[in-house]
Amino acid sequence: MGKLDEIIAEVDNVKDELIELHQNLVKIPTVNTGVMPTGNETELCQFLKKKLDAEHIKNEIVESLPTRGNLIARLNSSSRENQARLMFMSHTDVVPIGDETKWKHPPFSGILDNGRIYGRGSNDCKGLTSCEVMATILLKRLNVPLKRSLIMAAGADEETGSKYGFRWLAKNRRREILSDFAINEGGGGCIMTPKGLCWGIAIGEKGRLEARITITGKSCHASVPWVGDNALVKLSKVIQRIDEYKPEIDVSTVIFKEIPRLFAVAESEITPERIDVLIDRIASSNSLIYSVLKGLSRMTVTPTMTKGGIKSNVVPDTYELICDIRVLPGQDIQYVQSELEKTLSDIDGCKVIVSGTTNPSASPSNNEFLNSIKKSLSQVMGRNVETIQNLTVGFTDSSAVRPLGTIVYNFAPSHPKTNQNLNNVHGDNESIAVDDLVFRTKVLVALAYDLVAK
Ligand SMILES: [Zn+2]
Repeated sequence: MGKLDEIIAEVDNVKDELIELHQNLVKIPTVNTGVMPTGNETELCQFLKKKLDAEHIKNEIVESLPTRGNLIARLNSSSRENQARLMFMSHTDVVPIGDETKWKHPPFSGILDNGRIYGRGSNDCKGLTSCEVMATILLKRLNVPLKRSLIMAAGADEETGSKYGFRWLAKNRRREILSDFAINEGGGGCIMTPKGLCWGIAIGEKGRLEARITITGKSCHASVPWVGDNALVKLSKVIQRIDEYKPEIDVSTVIFKEIPRLFAVAESEITPERIDVLIDRIASSNSLIYSVLKGLSRMTVTPTMTKGGIKSNVVPDTYELICDIRVLPGQDIQYVQSELEKTLSDIDGCKVIVSGTTNPSASPSNNEFLNSIKKSLSQVMGRNVETIQNLTVGFTDSSAVRPLGTIVYNFAPSHPKTNQNLNNVHGDNESIAVDDLVFRTKVLVALAYDLVAK
């Protein structure tokens, strides 16, 4: 048995410890509403600090504000290099629980039921934090000699944009989190292809913009509606138009280059005109891939909120509509602004203002890092597997770290047999399969072994 096989086998031996660690993290409510005081991530950092201290792993809690703790741990190599090779990233804050009555188990119980651990944050993103902590501990415990350093960093405040988490760390603790490569949440889903099992590695993410559309009319008494110009009726036309909007189809994203090989389809099928037919065909046997391919071939414009009206008997003269917009690399505010203005050009009294929250961001395709991930998966599976590069459709902390020059891939690998539809991230009854925790920890130790061990 080689050293790596030994370490991978050790993950099975510490399964109970991993479960307990994970349950304890879920039990610490780190709900982030975005309105201070909130998050309270320091409490969770203190819990982790105690565990890491007991293993003699160098670590520090760095607060961006009182109670908003970030944890940075490090396994140093014997050589004195100035930059770490690999960083395990995650975030410790969670979104609010929503309607508690819809939860089968109390949302901060961390209860283990039928092979799954339940609770807010059990998946997003404590389901990665626990594995990264365990993987780091195992490398230390088993005295794996390192040629390069490994960082394990758990940030605060991701759920509201990471102003007090990785964005703050990138600005104020740049040196401590500087690394050649980093692994972060998202990605890592497993699909079956004609070529066998295949894991997604998200090398980038779509950007998020918001459109505020103000519709103006003329108010009057609701009993004589023809005297005025009803902004709410006009709003219905605006929503209809947006719903019918056909975004430009773009098949230049990296995932579409690998589709012909993995799904045994002709390259000539990868065209903007034919892609939707192909997506329907591929997705009929791979439902997980439907949203990925759909989301990565177009921008989405989704109406989410409206505001308006002053009284039930008054025809409203103003209504406001908010849309969530996810853009592909290369689609900027001006592009979205002009697309929406064109779409709504014949509805008078419409004003569109598009603003940015996060730009699309992506890391380059680095063969060394990609191969290392593929090798680690194959090692854990005991046979050769496939990987496919893609983008995630949502925001993560990766965009805060990429400007430092770190190549960040969103890759939290899941076990091929677990049901990812049960994860319900951000919904009620969020949970994670214990098999995912174990598998993920194994892949992470294998990856660290490949990149940082001697
Ligand atoms: Zn998350």
